[in-house]
Amino acid sequence: MTFDAEAKMQFLFALRSKGVTDSAVLEAMERVDRGDFIQGYFTDRAYEDMPLPIACGQTISQPSVVGVMTQALQLGPRDKVLEVGTGSGYQAAVLAQLARRVYTVDRHRRLVQAARAIFDAQGITNITAFTADGSHGLPDQAPFDRILVTAAAEDPPGPLLAQLKIGGIMIVPVGQSDAVQRLIRVTRHEDRFDYEELRPVRFVPLVEGLGKD
Ligand code: SAH
Repeated sequence: MTFDAEAKMQFLFALRSKGVTDSAVLEAMERVDRGDFIQGYFTDRAYEDMPLPIACGQTISQPSVVGVMTQALQLGPRDKVLEVGTGSGYQAAVLAQLARRVYTVDRHRRLVQAARAIFDAQGITNITAFTADGSHGLPDQAPFDRILVTAAAEDPPGPLLAQLKIGGIMIVPVGQSDAVQRLIRVTRHEDRFDYEELRPVRFVPLVEGLGKD
């Protein structure tokens, strides 16, 4: 299946009907072909609004969840963004359409290598992908204007809060891994953090340490 005019129309329709209304986000998701980030058996389902399995027992998120999270970040073109949980690289590629620079980390080296190869093949030059435990953030590149966590934490990790700029926004799914989690938007102000609950979601857990592959 290809991301042709009809596939795009259906894809965008599903996004809008699930609350993705920001035109810049919709345009970004129209530009990035989700099919490029899915290998093997599931490629023909790439444009359906469902999560799909990828290597290392992980999942590529549902497109409408990618859209809602991206929209909630309120990205600006000068923003430096950290994504924790590269997975397939799809979410990072969407962020890269809207921000100046994206750093993305995953605990599985194999996923990072595969994602890098896709970014290169597509000529996306403003993403840097690292194999790292993202629960510690990325101290060398901090602070960030925006942080997006695409794995569920029991609480927003302290090091990530510390690496957020004043005025910065972090989106993170919070809750136990085997239950429905809440998507939280954290805004850092000079003297405090504000927490806002957005919607229920379901993500794989944020796991400490590096993966075996
Ligand atoms: N954003 C991805 C989907 C993420 S799935 C996409 O667009 O495809 C969640 C990812 O988080 C998995 O790949 C998992 O390996 C990663 N992950 C879990 N705990 C992590 C940690 N502590 N540091 C970095 N990555 C982590």
